[in-house]
Amino acid sequence: MDLFEYQGKQYFARFDIPVSPGGVAETVDEAVAQAEAAGYPVVVKAQVQVGGRGKAGGIKLANDAVEVRTHAGDILGMDIKGHVVKRVWVEQASDIDEEYYASLTLDRAAKQHLLMLSAEGGIDIEEVAARDPDAIVKHHVDPVDGLSVEVARQAAVDARIPERAVDGVADILAKLYRCYTEGDCDLAEINPLILKSDGQVHALDAKVSLDGNASFRHPEWDEYRATEELDEREQLAREKGLQYIGLSGSVGIIANGAGLAMSTLDVVNQVGGQAANFLDIGGGANADVMAAALDVINSDEDVRSIFINIFGGITRGDEVANGIVEAAGRVRLRAPMVIRLDGTNADEARRILAESGIPASQLITKPTMLDAAREAVRIANGSEGGA
Ligand code: GDP
Ligand code: MN
Repeated sequence: MDLFEYQGKQYFARFDIPVSPGGVAETVDEAVAQAEAAGYPVVVKAQVQVGGRGKAGGIKLANDAVEVRTHAGDILGMDIKGHVVKRVWVEQASDIDEEYYASLTLDRAAKQHLLMLSAEGGIDIEEVAARDPDAIVKHHVDPVDGLSVEVARQAAVDARIPERAVDGVADILAKLYRCYTEGDCDLAEINPLILKSDGQVHALDAKVSLDGNASFRHPEWDEYRATEELDEREQLAREKGLQYIGLSGSVGIIANGAGLAMSTLDVVNQVGGQAANFLDIGGGANADVMAAALDVINSDEDVRSIFINIFGGITRGDEVANGIVEAAGRVRLRAPMVIRLDGTNADEARRILAESGIPASQLITKPTMLDAAREAVRIANGSEGGA
């Protein structure tokens, strides 16, 4: 679950990571009240979960109440890269000497945490990585050892953070590590981490992504769920109790079981395609669930073929087939379905599909996962830019 900047900063503050005094506002009047409380000059910042807000006009300096009114009025309701601004964060403006970058995330391949630090912050870290990869220090942290201030200090020195900022940076990194581990984050990023003219180091931005699997031990996360902005499809999938993750390809995927769904993504990739999503309809899925899954996939305009990969164990093939027929009768599917269906009641399932009356161009059955993947990818790639 991704947090907004203001929530990320509040989360940071719980771990003593220094942030500017400020408050969130949903109206112009509230913004003025927050500015008065924080003290002028202030910065009015659009709260949207997308980078580059400054360039888009979503970050403005205000010296008095009149300017806060103008800027908050402009920014509230603004559309930034498809995200409508519902709230602004108003904080005391900082005097910036330098901007750095710091983040902690998990390096799954290395089975360790990864600290990234750069003396070149404030801009997209991808940009820094492309231009000057050596400017980013990557330091693996063994979860058993944790991150000590000494190690953090060395990372700061390696990143060529100037001497006068090293202690401040190291102190924040150690706190960021606690926030990331004890706070159950998937990602904790500060960009920019600033050195102020008074020598203090301080988080000017916050990007925090919480690990949803840990929500059972964080009842306080409920307030974040309330402001969570899911896209239309993610919302629909959640309401239907489906495990759905949107991706950027053109082959819609429906599989039963997370393992099979992941393998399906891999096979699609292996034969030259790109999955439009991950969707696990779970064990024991019935006709209703299959119909719901097709509804979700069907609302994705990028989908050019729908690969349904079912291995029936507890899930009964005939139930799944009935769901496919029912959904196909109810909604106009935007793309042909390629089906691989095996296991429990597979023969009955094939009979139901064959007798469904769905045209053969819209419903293709294949005997194996690989055959089905090839066909789904052929259709998806072939009709690109077409109808
Ligand atoms: P993002 O571009 O959407 O990630 O927004 P950030 O919160 O990172 O802010 C972008 C840039 O705005 C920063 O790198 C700073 O250069 C500038 N900025 C933000 N807040 C302040 C501030 O309080 N004082 C000054 N001088 N600049 C600020
Ligand atoms: Mn930023």
